[in-house]
Amino acid sequence: MTAQITGRSPLRSAAELEEIAAAGIAELGIVNPTKNGPGRDADAADVIAWAAATFGPTWALTASMQDTVLAHLVARVAPGTDVLFLETGYHFAETLATRDAVRERYAVNVIDLRAEQTPAEQDEAYGADLFASNPDLCCLLRKETPLDEAMENYEAWATGLRRAEAVTRAGTRQIAFDARRQRVKIAPLAGWSDADVAAYVAEHDVIVNPLVAQGYPSIGCAPCTRKVLPGEDARAGRWAGTAKIECGIHR
Ligand code: SF4
Repeated sequence: MTAQITGRSPLRSAAELEEIAAAGIAELGIVNPTKNGPGRDADAADVIAWAAATFGPTWALTASMQDTVLAHLVARVAPGTDVLFLETGYHFAETLATRDAVRERYAVNVIDLRAEQTPAEQDEAYGADLFASNPDLCCLLRKETPLDEAMENYEAWATGLRRAEAVTRAGTRQIAFDARRQRVKIAPLAGWSDADVAAYVAEHDVIVNPLVAQGYPSIGCAPCTRKVLPGEDARAGRWAGTAKIECGIHR
């Protein structure tokens, strides 16, 4: 059975949420990184505990079902939290199996977010393989819009973004006000290195998408993800051969 969103309304105003984000940064002693220095992060578990206490059922985690570290940590610190999975209809079978395993093993509420159209209906409307002809539109229809609609139920959303993942993510903050969505955006693992992730996975027997070990350090939809070659950037396999480097949900 598909899990239901547990958020509630009415939500607090954007101005209130911006104040709450600032208060959280101060309470947790976070110093945001700048070009002059790396700043100071709070413990990831403390950030999650703050989010749970501050937002109750009105925060959710988005998960790509790659290494599932954040979902595991959230299940430990704030069991029952909604975990949003963008079910684009184009995922690898291994990614869907990872989602199923998280749903089975972790104490979180995994919710599939789907686009209005099935892939077949999208092919009918826009021509076959929109991901090849216009990946920005495909991501808008299958990722950004379903997430934006789901976020109408939440005051805050958390992601597994890490500064070490890519140059485009170097400015990631643990707590920020997401002006585009008018919500609080939380990245508890912002300062974690690849070694930190590997250590947590080993210590807690975390579910990891088997594709990671097969040469896919960054996993998105199957048509837009290829293996990474030795020496390439971890995200080089995403939308390879195009100028696109992010799906748009983190703009
Ligand atoms: S990653 Fe590719 S298949 Fe997935 S939504 Fe974006 S363009 Fe479409």
